[in-house]
Amino acid sequence: MSRFIVIGGGVIGLNAAYQLARKGAGKVIVLEKGVVGDGSSSRAAGFITGLMWTETAIKARKISLRLYRELTADLDRYGYRFQDVGCLNIFDATSWPGREEILPVYDRHDVPYEILDAEEIRRRWPDLAPEEDHIGLHDELGGYSEPHEFVPALARRCRDLGVEIREHARVEGLEIESGRVVGVRTSLVTVEVDMVVCAVHSWTRAFMELCGLRLPIKSFVHQRYVTTELPEAAVIPAINANPQGGYIRPARLGSGDSRLLAGGETENRPEMRVDDLDFHMAGLSAPESLRDRLSANLAPLVPKLAGISWETEQVGLISFSLDGEPVLGTLPQLSGLVVGAAFHSGGFAYSPVAGLLLAELAADEETSVDISSFSPARFSAQDTDAYLARTVVEGEAFRRRH
Ligand SMILES: Cc1cc2nc3c(=O)[nH]c(=O)nc-3n(C[C@H](O)[C@H](O)[C@H](O)COP(=O)(O)OP(=O)(O)OC[C@H]3O[C@@H](n4cnc5c(N)ncnc54)[C@H](O)[C@@H]3O)c2cc1C
Repeated sequence: MSRFIVIGGGVIGLNAAYQLARKGAGKVIVLEKGVVGDGSSSRAAGFITGLMWTETAIKARKISLRLYRELTADLDRYGYRFQDVGCLNIFDATSWPGREEILPVYDRHDVPYEILDAEEIRRRWPDLAPEEDHIGLHDELGGYSEPHEFVPALARRCRDLGVEIREHARVEGLEIESGRVVGVRTSLVTVEVDMVVCAVHSWTRAFMELCGLRLPIKSFVHQRYVTTELPEAAVIPAINANPQGGYIRPARLGSGDSRLLAGGETENRPEMRVDDLDFHMAGLSAPESLRDRLSANLAPLVPKLAGISWETEQVGLISFSLDGEPVLGTLPQLSGLVVGAAFHSGGFAYSPVAGLLLAELAADEETSVDISSFSPARFSAQDTDAYLARTVVEGEAFRRRH
């Protein structure tokens, strides 16, 4: 029986394990250095949209949206459901042309969208008050997932499918023979493997360097907030409020409470270098002023936010590759290893399809999408070294939301 090791118990690793187990590919073990969801996955805002900006991403997200609906059916008994409230992407006159030129690609791939003016947005969602000249690009298949529901539900389903999830099991290195990974080393044991899936997000660069491999990936602190309970629910979709510099959606922390979740970037903040495998996101913090900025920017769009305070804060990392697209695939220098990382601010949305693609690669099957544009091999050594040598602020790496 083949043995698959998945390193990292976040949404990418868990989805890969889930897909491998569903295939009956062999024995699947997840090694997580902390507890499941310990990285960005439990801290995410959980926005999900199919309206991406490159052909590969558009095709991949189409599958993610389908898989999220299938996961709802499969994980219902574990307390998870995809919140299919739609995703509204708002643009102003400056940012719209860049997105408008992608619409023919959506048409070509039968990806549904609607272009809404301010009046139509107000008519559909009376709780929204967009500016008169703003344009809405509505993804009716989009929505969001609550991380605190999705992550534990997926882990439980994996276990019930026979996946062994070992927590507090940090991988410290790989055993390599003749250019192939044959084992995974933790502090306690070395586990023999046929195939390794590396899904360690912001730790990827440091981890790959242990194997003598360099990938041009940088991480940035990112934060999101949930309000206190609203006196009255705000009926809104998940919104990428680009002109307002953030995003906002309905949220709940318990069952039946009505809140709002919002987040945004910190453009001038320098990258966060994760050089140590011991690094933990619990030590991260966000500037206090960001809460007021988000309220001030987003309350004109969602008036029910006015005067409401933020109750919880989650701070984690988002990672970008040199060209902004995910890094997903095999490495020409090392067989027996597949990597999935640098999913920008969209790793949660990508996770079902990323898990599927990683499982297909690990099981040596043809992938559901041609992912050559995500290949780790697309970066030259020279470009990688030059990118890693400089310090970048978030605004230089960040391109679009989710
Ligand atoms: C505030 C915030 C909001 C976000 N909002 C969204 C959103 O709305 N939509 C969206 O799609 N995405 C969003 N993201 C991005 C998304 O959270 C990430 O892209 C996604 O969670 C990455 O999943 P992952 O499994 O790769 O990483 P993680 O969840 O970080 O998991 C990696 C795991 O690997 C483990 N690990 C690391 N090194 C080792 C080792 N050596 N051995 C064993 N285990 C190891 C870590 O402990 C960790 O648990 C957001 C991120 C943040 C921070």
